[in-house]
Amino acid sequence: MPSLEQLIDDNTLPDDGEAWDCPCKGCTIPVDITLQSSDGIHFGAHKKNLEYFSEGFPPVEWTDEKTDEIVELSEKEIVLELLLRFMHNAALPILSKECSGWNINDLLAFIDAVEKYGVFIALQAGDEALRSRASELSAEELLKVLLRKAARSDSSDIDVFARQSLKIPMMVGLNILEAHPRIFMIWCRYQLEWKEWKDEYHQEMFKMRRCHRNVNDEDCKVLRNYLNVFHPIIRKIGGEFPDLHHFEQAVNLLSSIPTVGKFCQLQCSSFKNWRDAFRELFRKQKRWVDCISVSGSN
Ligand SMILES: [Zn+2]
Ligand SMILES: [Zn+2]
Repeated sequence: MPSLEQLIDDNTLPDDGEAWDCPCKGCTIPVDITLQSSDGIHFGAHKKNLEYFSEGFPPVEWTDEKTDEIVELSEKEIVLELLLRFMHNAALPILSKECSGWNINDLLAFIDAVEKYGVFIALQAGDEALRSRASELSAEELLKVLLRKAARSDSSDIDVFARQSLKIPMMVGLNILEAHPRIFMIWCRYQLEWKEWKDEYHQEMFKMRRCHRNVNDEDCKVLRNYLNVFHPIIRKIGGEFPDLHHFEQAVNLLSSIPTVGKFCQLQCSSFKNWRDAFRELFRKQKRWVDCISVSGSN
C-alpha cells in the first residue's frame, strides 16, 4: 500500500500528458482545466461547465489554448470535490447524505464556496443540509451559524437555529458571543421573549375551561381529557418550544383518534374557544427579526 506521502506526491505529479479525473462519477466530458485545492489535491474540470454552472468561476482569465494550466483555489479537497459534482448536468448530490459525516466547519465552508462562486444550483441543498443538522449542533456551533446568518442579514431559516439556541444557558451564550455585543443583545431579547411566551403557554394550557352548557361542572371534562393527551403530544412533535405548525399537526393528529378528538357531548364551545386562543398565542411568537427591530429602536 502506498503511504500517504506517496499518494500526495502522485497527486501533485500528473502522468505524462494525462489529465486529472473529474470527480463526477462516469463523466465523459473531456477535462480541459485542472483545479487544485488548498490541501494540494488536483481535480480535472471542464471550462464550459464551470462557466455554465457558476457566476464567478474561476477568479482568473480563461485561456483557450492551454490545457495544462492549474488553477489554485482556497477551498479544501472535500469542498471542491462536492462543488464540482454540482457543476454537471447530472443528478445532484444529496447533501444531507454526502455531508452527514462532515464537521460543521466543512459544511459551512462548502456553503461559503457555493456563494463565492455563485453555484446557485447548490445553494438550496447547502441550506437544507445545514438545517437538517440544527438539532444536533453544539452550543458553539449553533451560535456560530446564528452569527453567520445574522451578519449577512440572512433571515432564511435563522429562526430554526435561534429556536434551537434557546436551550443554551445565558452565560454560555455570553462566553461565545462576547466579541459580538449587538448579536448577543438580540439573542438575549429572543431568549427573554421566548421564556415569557412559554410561561403564557403553560398558563393557558392548564387554566380552567368552562363547560358553558353544564351548570354543575364548570370545567369541561372532555376538553380537560383532551388537553391531558394534547400537551405530551405537542411536546413530542415540537419539543420545548413548539410553533403554530406543530400545534396544527398535533390538533390534526388527535382529531384522527375518535376517542380523544370528540367534542363535548353537551356541544359546548370550549374546544373551539381553546383552539382559537391557542392559534392566537402561537401567532404571537417572536421571530429573530422582531428582536432586531426592537433592539434597533432603543
Ligand atoms: Zn465531469
Ligand atoms: Zn364541555
